[in-house]
Amino acid sequence: MRKPSCLLLATTLFLAPAAYSSELSESIQQDYDSHLGALWDHFHQNPELSTLEFRTAERMASELREAGFEVTEQVGGTGVVAMLRNGNGPMVMMRADMDGLPVEERSGLANASAVTMVDPLTGTTVPVMHACGHDVHITSLVGTARQMAARKDEWGGTLMLIVQPAEERGMGAQSMHGDGLWERFGQPDYALALHVSSENVAGKINVTESPYAGVDTVDIIIHGVGAHGASPHRGKDPIVLGSQIVLALQTLVARELPPRSPGVVTVGSFHSGTKHNIISDRAVLQLTVRNTSLETRDLLLNGIKRIAENMGRAAGLPEDKLPEVIISPGTAPPTINTAQLARRLRIAWSEEIGDSRVIEEPTKTMVAEDFPFFTMDPEIPSVYWGVGGTPAEDFDREAAGGAPVPSHHSPLFKIAPEPSVTAGVESTVVALLELMGDR
Ligand SMILES: [Zn+2]
Ligand SMILES: [Zn+2]
Repeated sequence: MRKPSCLLLATTLFLAPAAYSSELSESIQQDYDSHLGALWDHFHQNPELSTLEFRTAERMASELREAGFEVTEQVGGTGVVAMLRNGNGPMVMMRADMDGLPVEERSGLANASAVTMVDPLTGTTVPVMHACGHDVHITSLVGTARQMAARKDEWGGTLMLIVQPAEERGMGAQSMHGDGLWERFGQPDYALALHVSSENVAGKINVTESPYAGVDTVDIIIHGVGAHGASPHRGKDPIVLGSQIVLALQTLVARELPPRSPGVVTVGSFHSGTKHNIISDRAVLQLTVRNTSLETRDLLLNGIKRIAENMGRAAGLPEDKLPEVIISPGTAPPTINTAQLARRLRIAWSEEIGDSRVIEEPTKTMVAEDFPFFTMDPEIPSVYWGVGGTPAEDFDREAAGGAPVPSHHSPLFKIAPEPSVTAGVESTVVALLELMGDR
């Protein structure tokens, strides 16, 4: 296959279209019509909550086994690892997450979910829906497995397919990684993943620098001095101090972060007090803090600590009573693509899938992902890309003042399975053949 440095070759290929692209897309389309379409339908109708993906994992294991992979179940919970060894060459990992969400589906689709489950977080029965498109990811993974198994003479190396639980709770990647993933199955040379996106036109391939934000969960505990509400001079009011801290924190993003570096500091909860006429002795703030780089992460977390402590000093609190800033261990780092590898795959996609279908549209939100837990420690070159999932007509309708395109996690969320699934398979197979192919 093409070598990464061959930019010149990439341009000359406009004159000599690649050999396998149309054959590949026809083959994927046939597989969609005879197998993958019905499989997506099945997964969409049968979503399961995070950590409880038992039947989904079982079906994935049997699909991947049938495709000729060596399959291990119950890795880090309900996770599945499928291996296909095919001689010499790099080891490449491709991950698909498989969990649904506690959302009642109102998409209007013929195969809308009517499933309910007991939510392990609350103990209550909740409706369940594939409201983030993970059904597209696992269906695409099966399509990829079937293509790669049928094309063993076109590549060499080891393909590792990962079916991951509990992405929506930020747990699955860590639990699989912590279950001796690399020790048991080998450490990949490259790690790949995709997410279908309602923000992009169906079938488009979106490659950006940092597709997902990093997130930290922070608690600030303010120790006041309790008093009668009529005697404020006898206390230290944690509600007034907490309010000053909330406002001062707004300057971190507005005044300290370079304007081209995205960051979010949101105080999502502020609890204090019991009664009208009592000055409380404690307030607790709960924050979500988001970044797209480790530098921004440090700036925001250090800034929060500095502001909280110094506002405490300004309020006259003693050194041993300053506000405490607690950063939860359950953090997710930002998902940052390995630049050179992303460039290499972008060229391959442009050549094989078509320049017009490859876009670079940075996401507008600061949503996080747990995929970096596979690629951070040790560091593994990785690319995470988006696959558009909304028909162009839906964007036209929204632009004309009609119903807006529903976002991920909405009850109205609706991905067009075709061409999302086929584009998922096509982009993955092209990436794998680029990395493991022998052209
Ligand atoms: Zn989601
Ligand atoms: Zn998702």
